[in-house]
Amino acid sequence: MRVLHTIADFRTWRIAFPTHGVVTFVPTMGALHEGHASLVRAARELAGDGGKVLASIFVNPTQFGPAEDFGKYPRTLDADLALLMACGCDAVFVPTAAEIYPAHASQPITINPGPLSTVLEGAIRPGHFAGVCTVVAKLLLIAQPTHLFLGQKDYQQQLILRHMCHDLDFPVEVVTAPTIREPDGLAMSSRNRYLSAGEREKAAAIYKALTAAHAAYLSGQKNGPALEKIMQEILSRAGFEIQYAVVAESHTLAKVEAEITSPAVLLIAAKLGATRLIDNLVLNKDR
Ligand code: AMP
Repeated sequence: MRVLHTIADFRTWRIAFPTHGVVTFVPTMGALHEGHASLVRAARELAGDGGKVLASIFVNPTQFGPAEDFGKYPRTLDADLALLMACGCDAVFVPTAAEIYPAHASQPITINPGPLSTVLEGAIRPGHFAGVCTVVAKLLLIAQPTHLFLGQKDYQQQLILRHMCHDLDFPVEVVTAPTIREPDGLAMSSRNRYLSAGEREKAAAIYKALTAAHAAYLSGQKNGPALEKIMQEILSRAGFEIQYAVVAESHTLAKVEAEITSPAVLLIAAKLGATRLIDNLVLNKDR
């Protein structure tokens, strides 16, 4: 597996192999876990023996707010590289912030991620999705993959990046892979390591809230606010500070204020102490 640190080196390596065939790409912020591994394995499977699997590790400063955890975000490069290699990655791009955002770009051009970026995560983390879209656009232009692999874990992120690739005509197919969970249902996340032992036990309540609302839906409860109440009660009982626990329309992310009549998703963001966790569950799909 090649480990490349500069755009120039990555491009040189990238153009050395023929562009026909599948080239999959898995962007990450490192601190890799089984959720990331599953994406890379799926990317490997799609690429096959004749294709290439690319990944990136970059803790992107522009997607963190000033009061967020950029400084303390876990950085575990050696273990990350070992995991990527074990999953069949061919090359990983590990740039510095100065490589991606050179100082001379004093008035940088960024991507406006549009209305989907102003709700839910975007309302709580202003500027977050502009940072995500801009860096992923740059990484796509550098890596030039045929397929971009994203996790369903970050539902709103994969939706916005799908729109970006579609609306800006990136010649890439977006693949969303399922959320990988711990045995008690907690979605794997690099941020889980911030949880104390006590918080870690309580954290499973997020998945309990999602599955309880899903079960109620399957038993006939089709009212959005009623399902939200089920999630909110479970989260509050476990000691979470809820930021949102909503039923939203899958494509527009509009909150479902009455009966669910179209594809919908349950979305939660909640804090345990200082740790902020997000998760989601698709309620029903397009028929
Ligand atoms: P991150 O390193 O948090 O930026 O995540 C990199 C990619 O891995 C994103 O597309 C995430 O949605 C995805 N990812 C993170 N956690 C999981 C998980 N538990 N299961 C599946 N994909 C995940």
